[in-house]
Parts: sequence; C-alpha cells; structure tokens
Amino acid sequence: MSANILVAVAWPYANAQIHVGNLTGSTLPADIFTRYHRLAGNQVIMVSGSDSHGTPVAVRADAEQSTPIQVYQKYHVSFIELYQKLGLAFDLFTSTHTQNHFKVSQAIFLALKQNKYLYTQREKQWFSPAQNRYLPDRYVEGTCYICGFKNARGDQCDSCGNMLDANLLIDPRSKIDGSTPELRETEHFYLDLGLLEPTIVDFLKTRESYWRPNVLRQSLGQILADGLHGRAITRDLDWGIPVPVEGWQGKCLYVWFEAVIGYLSAAIEWAQISGQPEAWKDWWFNPDALSYYFIGKDNIPFHAVIWPAQLIGAGGAFSQFFEGRQSSTLNLPFDIPANEFMNLEGEKISGSRNWAVWGLDFLTRYDPDPLRYYLTANMPESKDTDWDWGDFVRRNNDELVATWGNLANRVLSFAYRNWDGHVPTPGELRPDDHALLATVEAGFQSVGKELEAVHLRSALNEALRLATEGNKYLDKAAPWFEIKKDKAAAATTIYTALRAIDSLKVLFAPFLPFTSQLLHTYMGYSQPLFGEQYTETRQDNLGKHSVLRYRPPATGKAQWQPSQLAAGQALVEPAPLYRKLDPSVAEVERTRLGQRPD
Ligand SMILES: [Zn+2]
Repeated sequence: MSANILVAVAWPYANAQIHVGNLTGSTLPADIFTRYHRLAGNQVIMVSGSDSHGTPVAVRADAEQSTPIQVYQKYHVSFIELYQKLGLAFDLFTSTHTQNHFKVSQAIFLALKQNKYLYTQREKQWFSPAQNRYLPDRYVEGTCYICGFKNARGDQCDSCGNMLDANLLIDPRSKIDGSTPELRETEHFYLDLGLLEPTIVDFLKTRESYWRPNVLRQSLGQILADGLHGRAITRDLDWGIPVPVEGWQGKCLYVWFEAVIGYLSAAIEWAQISGQPEAWKDWWFNPDALSYYFIGKDNIPFHAVIWPAQLIGAGGAFSQFFEGRQSSTLNLPFDIPANEFMNLEGEKISGSRNWAVWGLDFLTRYDPDPLRYYLTANMPESKDTDWDWGDFVRRNNDELVATWGNLANRVLSFAYRNWDGHVPTPGELRPDDHALLATVEAGFQSVGKELEAVHLRSALNEALRLATEGNKYLDKAAPWFEIKKDKAAAATTIYTALRAIDSLKVLFAPFLPFTSQLLHTYMGYSQPLFGEQYTETRQDNLGKHSVLRYRPPATGKAQWQPSQLAAGQALVEPAPLYRKLDPSVAEVERTRLGQRPD
C-alpha cells in the first residue's frame, strides 16, 4: 500500500553560501529519505525554498549598495545550482518571495486572528539611533539572562538553547555595528502561545514515544518546565510580507513566522505548477499522510512548538481565507528528526572566518557521491560530529572504493570481458550462491527499516556490511581461477555476484544516486532508477523566481526489491565508479581552511 509522505526541509537563509554542516544537518538526510520512499513506490513530495526575507538580507543589501531582491536571488540561484549538482532532488525548491507564499502566509495570519489566537501589544523594541532602524531580535546580542552566556542572540541562546525575550538581554549591542541600541515603543501582533499551550502539549505527548530525545527536550520538556508565553509575530521592517491589517503599513510578518508556512505554500505551489492545483491536499488534509521535517537542532523550537501552534490555531479557517471555504484542519508534524551539528577539524564551522567546507567549492574538485557518502557515514544524528579531511580520504578509499566500488567494478569487468559483454547464464545455483543472494536480499527489509526510522547512518552501514559479504563470497569462489578449470562454474559465480551487485545498487541508491545510476546503466538497464531534476523560471506580480523541480521516471514501478537480473542481458562496458584519493589531499585541503574570504 502506498503512503503519502511530505518531506519538509529547512529553508536555507538567503544571505550565505551552503556548507557541509547545512547539508548533513537537513538537506541530505531529507533527500536520502525521499529517494528511498520513491524507490519503495510511495507518494512523496520534498519541498523547501530560500528564506528570502528579514533583516539579514536587508542589512546585506545596504552594505552591498544593492537591493534585498538582488541579494536573495544571488544566493537562491547558488542554492539551486548546488542542489542540482549534489542530486538533492526536490519536487519543488522555491522561495518565500512569491505571490503564492504571501497569500498563504497572510491566510494563516488572518485565520489565527479570527480564531482569537492573536493579540496586539505596545512594547519596547531595540532601536539603533546610529542606523535609524529598529533592530530585530537576532540583530541584538548580549548576555543571556538565563545562563549568563556572553554572546546570546536576541531570539535564542546558543548556549542553553532557550528562546529569549530580546528586551531582557544584558549589555545589549547591535550586531551590525556594535553600537548600543535603545528601547523605543512600537506595536506588534502576538501569537497567544499561552492559550494554545494545552493543545500543543497534548499534541507533543502523542509524539513522545518516537521523537528524538533532543527534539522532545526542546519542545515538551521545555514547555513542562517553563510554560509558553505570547510571541511577537510582526516586525518593524519593510522587506517581507505585509501585515494584512488596515493601518499596519510599514510592518511585516516576522520572518520565522512566515518561513515555516513555506512548507505549506511550497506544496501548494508544487500542485499548481504540476497542473493539479488540489493535489497538495493529499499531503495536508489527508489524516493518513505523514510529514517529516528535516532540520538542524538550532531550529527545533520553531518546528516542534511554534509551527504546530500556528497550524492548530489556524485550523479550518485557513481554507476560508485561502480559498473561500472552511475545510479540514492542517496536518501536524509526524516526525522532526532534527540533527545535531557537524564541526570541522575540531572547531565549530564559521562562515565568516571561512572555517567551512563549501558545497559548491567542494564539487569543483570532487564528485558528489563521495561527499554524500561521507556526510551520511558521519551524520550528526545523535551527537555532534566532525568533518576531518583525513577521515574523508580514508573512508573514500577504504570503504567506498575498496568495499563497494571495486566489488562492482571487478565483477562487471570480468563478466564483460569473458562473456562477450553479456550476463552469463548460470548453472543450478549452489548453497553458497543461494546464501549470498538471501543475505543481500534481506537488505531490502533491514536497510529499508532503518531508512524508514530515519536512522540513515545505520542504514548505510548495513548496506556496506552486505557489500562486504559480496567480497567474502568472491574471495572464496575466486572466479578468476575457477574460469580456467570450469567456465560453467565461473558463469554461475559471476551471475550470482552480478545479481547481488544489482540488488546492492538499489540498496545504495538513496545514498549514492549518481553512481548507482551509472552502475544501473553498465548492467544494461534502459529505464532510469530516478527521475530528472530541472530548473524553471516562474513569474508572478512580485517578479521572477527560479525553481528547482523533479520529473519522475516514466515508469512509476517500485524498484526497492531484489534483482531479477536476466541471464544474457547485454552489459555496457564498465569504468570504475569512484576515484581513489591520494592521502596528501587531506593536508592540501586543511591549508585552505580559514584562508579565502567568504
Ligand atoms: Zn542561555
């Protein structure tokens, strides 16, 4: 039975390039999970986009004497380029600066307002006399009033993880120029989280048995300890989505409030441009649909508490404002498998110091699958991990090349050479042959189960373990010698090994889509494993925006199943799937760190 699965991926903020920590934190795990479900024949859509609004983009535009639109589009286009090169196969990667997103966000706001989950409050906000602008929370830094950490951001403390009230920061300073801001009076809309608290707690309790501990700690745990309090959801800023209320000109919806709405608006945009404008409802209203949110640990409260609060509070009134009729309530997150952080050579990744491995830069020197492999093998699923260049080279050479790439390459080359470019016809399979096939084919259960639970590291380890079994089988059967004495026996061995590799190719495909496809072609298949990524330019009354899309393969047949390799199938002359790297690469790469400007 096929399921509807929404894969919601953290929206990268459009004011910096993407590094390996961002990739392993949310985008890559989302893609692996999505590819698995596509192979398994489920109805999955993976959506995200560039988070285009907010003060960081406006500030950067001022600094570059440019416009916010130009700033966001510059990064947006580079995100799309990276995702295409790395095979992050979004059904739709769009932007928050679209007419559709404005409309959906304003509908959520108005639904919350009608349902009386919003209230207004006059309050004091940090204002920079030096810059003549209100400073949003994240542009004020100071000492955390909860834990005493000296460099807390106004909206959140990176040391204790608490969401903060920026006005209470001790020794505040402007992050833009270091000047001291002053508090001035303004008026804002607040989301009444206190009123929503009992419903949110009930919701979180239904997730208690399976959410990751860090996610529960920063949602249910924190609410039970401290309770929930109203939170301002508008800002004094003109770069963003206007507050849809008379007399509120010059103010915007808070960038965090509207960016999470992107998971909904992107699904709607995907449905519209796919020519099935109602299709998004199969993921958002269908109570059996499952939604998975792939995010980094710094975004947990916004996804596990505030976003559910917005969805619960808007309820069926969302549709009333969006399309003029009441409807079902919107689906709440089923799982939020948030990752921890990846550090780099023992230190925290820092874009401003260029202590980072940048996605696009990496791909000018290396292939995408080795990066995907290393980022999965080293994914920070339960604790912080470290990118170490020596470890990258070692795993590439000892695992990807030695265990998997060589296995595939030597069997295929041997078959191609000795059986005239065809899959040999086996005799009756022997106990060892049956044993290998049974072991590898059990992987469709064991690897699949880990993938469904979003245990991606252990899923990859399991696939690699099965490849090791393939190597053991070959070492024992030694077809290279067998063929000299008994070509028929060698044919049986090579057929068995090819069939095992054919299955392993599918088991590795969610992690290593490029080389799995290559192998698929070498083995003589014409239908691709996956569909194609492509870009498109959309136009609306806010201007043009590029989107990244996915075209599924012509046959929608589920491919997550054991190989049915036919004897006699024509092979394509193979070449090695991976390159062995010289160990000196690690030192060369280390000298680059911290060198070039961002
Ligand atoms: Zn703190």
